[in-house]
Amino acid sequence: MITTADEDLLRRAIGIAAHATTIGDAPYGSLLTGPDGTILVEAHNTVRRDNDISAHPELKLARWAARELDPHTAARTTLYTSCQPCQMCAGAIVRSGLGRVVYALSTEQLIDLNPQSGAWPTVPQDGPALFDEARAPIDDYYRP
Ligand SMILES: [Zn+2]
Repeated sequence: MITTADEDLLRRAIGIAAHATTIGDAPYGSLLTGPDGTILVEAHNTVRRDNDISAHPELKLARWAARELDPHTAARTTLYTSCQPCQMCAGAIVRSGLGRVVYALSTEQLIDLNPQSGAWPTVPQDGPALFDEARAPIDDYYRP
């Protein structure tokens, strides 16, 4: 359930997205709030500026949280973002242990506004293979 306090923070994320376009970046913005609701960090999309496909704001904030917060604190954060996280960012959010995500535009709504946003082709994957060889470094690393 999205509260009016959530909406205020979403408006700030949308504002970050709007500001990004004024400095030549793509229109996506996010922020992370701590357990007490204060803003910890903000980011916008710098894919073009950094020539880095991973420079999505949600991924930057997930990496920041994993680096700077203990797991208990991370679990009580909320990520506010102008658009629903993409698959890359969703994976990072799970790995970083963030507690909650609140987004404005859904992926479906974003694709309606910009069909290129939906360009997520499936990459062919072949495997599994070479089980006995591939397991050796895993066994070596995790063996007590
Ligand atoms: Zn993303």
